[in-house]
Amino acid sequence: MKLVILGPPGAGKGTYSGEIKNRYNIAHIEAGRLLRQEISNQTETGKNIKEIVDHGKLVPDNIIIELIENRLRQDDAENGFILDGFPRTINQAQALDNITDIELVIELFVPREILIEKILARRTCKQCGAIYNIADIDREIDGVHYELPPLSPEKEGVCDKCGGELIRRSDETPEILEQRFATYDEQTKPLVEYYEKKSLLRKIHVTHGKEIMLEKIFELIEKELGM
Ligand code: AMP
Repeated sequence: MKLVILGPPGAGKGTYSGEIKNRYNIAHIEAGRLLRQEISNQTETGKNIKEIVDHGKLVPDNIIIELIENRLRQDDAENGFILDGFPRTINQAQALDNITDIELVIELFVPREILIEKILARRTCKQCGAIYNIADIDREIDGVHYELPPLSPEKEGVCDKCGGELIRRSDETPEILEQRFATYDEQTKPLVEYYEKKSLLRKIHVTHGKEIMLEKIFELIEKELGM
């Protein structure tokens, strides 16, 4: 199973990919996390990209392509994988096409005003990367009802899974968010058309909470891959 999950910052790519990984026993490969690991390990690459990531801009294609290519060679990716946060440019998508054959691209769609509210309410575990969200959304936009309940930890500020500290990422501020959306619109959105042309893209409107959406996503994957 070779999947890509596409969508703007805050659409839930990380949350859903984690669940997809567990259900199908495939590797969850997160571009942003690979980059943040380089930064926290203070590697040469990490030092070069810290400023870029902190400002919500994209790191150079060659850096992320190399990290992803190495990650795809690890044993756990043999059984399949879901790529989350990669590709983010047409260049990266072309590089990926040269490495492997993607079978399905899932596009998560959420209206921007909801995205902003959700991202500012997001908390990430410093230790294991688990994601929580304290925003409670119940509203109609363009005739569509969005009912997105919070995904709170049992104890405020503490990760349920590993006990790690929950933090707000340094790129999750209103100013940086604006930059990240601009980056998404300019560089990543064209991938929707790129994968549409290859007949690989399926769009999912994220209108409900995690459990309901997961059912829809699993159903889509199994139908599309003939499982
Ligand atoms: P994310 O955790 O996916 O929101 O990514 C956090 C940040 O890492 C982004 O704002 C970018 O600075 C960088 N980043 C993540 N994925 C990529 C990618 N595929 N290409 C370039 N930069 C990336």
